[in-house]
Amino acid sequence: MDTQKVCEHCQTRFTISPDELSMYEKVAIPLPTQCFSCRMKHYFAFWPFGKFRKGTSDLSGENLITILPASARYPIYTSSEWFSDAWDPMSFGLTYDPSRSFFDQLKELQEKVPRPHQQGAQNTNSDWCDDAWECKNCYLSRSIARSENLSYGYRAFDTKDSIDISHVFNLDNCYECTYTFNSFNVLFSRNCRDCMDSQFLYDCRNCTNCTMCWNLRGKQYCIENKQYSKEEYVEKLKEYDLSSNKSLEKLKERYEEILKKDFVHRQNFTLNTYNSEGTYLANCNNCHNVFSFEDSENCYDCLRGRTATDCIDMLGCWQIELSGRNSCATAGYQLKYSSWSDGRYSEYLDQCAEVEYCFGCVGLRKKKYCILNKQYTKEEYESLRETIISDMRARNEYGQFLPYNMGLCPYNLTTAQIYFPEVSREFVLSQGGYWDDSREDHIEGIATNDLPDSIHDISGSISKQALICPVTGWRFNIAPDELAFLKRKNIALPRVHFDVRTKSRMRLLAPTQGENYSCFYCSKNIVGYYPRSWGYENVSCEDCYKSNIS
Ligand SMILES: [Zn+2]
Ligand SMILES: [Zn+2]
Repeated sequence: MDTQKVCEHCQTRFTISPDELSMYEKVAIPLPTQCFSCRMKHYFAFWPFGKFRKGTSDLSGENLITILPASARYPIYTSSEWFSDAWDPMSFGLTYDPSRSFFDQLKELQEKVPRPHQQGAQNTNSDWCDDAWECKNCYLSRSIARSENLSYGYRAFDTKDSIDISHVFNLDNCYECTYTFNSFNVLFSRNCRDCMDSQFLYDCRNCTNCTMCWNLRGKQYCIENKQYSKEEYVEKLKEYDLSSNKSLEKLKERYEEILKKDFVHRQNFTLNTYNSEGTYLANCNNCHNVFSFEDSENCYDCLRGRTATDCIDMLGCWQIELSGRNSCATAGYQLKYSSWSDGRYSEYLDQCAEVEYCFGCVGLRKKKYCILNKQYTKEEYESLRETIISDMRARNEYGQFLPYNMGLCPYNLTTAQIYFPEVSREFVLSQGGYWDDSREDHIEGIATNDLPDSIHDISGSISKQALICPVTGWRFNIAPDELAFLKRKNIALPRVHFDVRTKSRMRLLAPTQGENYSCFYCSKNIVGYYPRSWGYENVSCEDCYKSNIS
């Protein structure tokens, strides 16, 4: 039977299934006292989205580019300095004081220990990026791996020569795509696989030369799901002018209109996934209440991850096993209550790498038996850890995630902006978190409404000018490579700031609450992961989708 719970934050009722309960026991973490959304909102306090800015290293004064705030509570070093022997995280070690809250002591340590200016490793010429891994010539992108010549990417894996793409895999020459796999020269499209030379597609597979189409398989020369001959297609395509901003805006409106009325939306958007609930899962097995996950097994209550096994209650997981209640944890085994760390048999880590048997440490690398960045013998470690856990239990701290006041940046600059933009300043401050109230005033530049309508009327000098985003008032630029790409593909200049573009693309993939729908084909009651406010009329159960579309 399900265990019934009431969220201590929002008073929502939630349940814990017997299988979920066994996973909590297997990972050995206490049951949650908050609902899934409230837990994820909390973990997001540790995931900066930030704004790219120039700064300097607190160690050497060297210039750096970071998404961490200028107001950071901790020193910032360049990544290469951080990974060098130029400093020693153990020099900040604290002796545990049983008369004080452990979290207060950990926060005190956190504020002394430097952090690297960006997450990621093994990149070439990709300074204006964060959370980038094995990337080359990438620009203003976050959470990317093995990509080359990518600008304004977000959660992009194995991409090349592409711009403005989010949550995508193996794309080449693509623009404005979300949740798209293995495609070439696909523009303004969502949820597609194996497509080429097409634009404004939704849920199409193996299509070439198609425009404004949905739910097609293996087609070519289609427009609005109507078949044309090659010659007719080429002629008709002239009506689809992407080079004029006015025309492009009309095409986007048309897409949004048929997205609501004509496209068929599978209740969840999962691929090669078995015995699982959630959405945007690919190659997952036995994953429950899990979202935006790939190549994972036996996970519960997780958001954003890859290659995770036996994990529960986590945000941001990568190559991790038998772990839980973490925010951004990689390469871990039996890792709990930690942020931006990889480690084994450890708890309450922040920004640690390759550690084992550590408890409450910050910024350590390759250490064992440390507490509050102090070295102990195995026996001392085990006995002090027991003492601390028992003190934490008395203060109702043990088993809780790191507190909001240890969050890495103001909450309105975290990745929660994508998933939970409704979280209020008042709520965050009441939890001890942070909020950025600063405004950018007196910014000079060209209002994007004043730009020439056609890309053909834009000259190279645009790259030297500041543009002002009408949504945020933020200044942005068109990079020379971006201009060349847009000219080559005949696409009008973007009118809003690149972070606004990324966030609005990612919002499409962000819902984690199922809504009740009845199947468009068979009227069966189903749960669909599309907010009612989106107005999608045709939501289909998995069976009907399989028999009618794929
Ligand atoms: Zn709640
Ligand atoms: Zn049905």
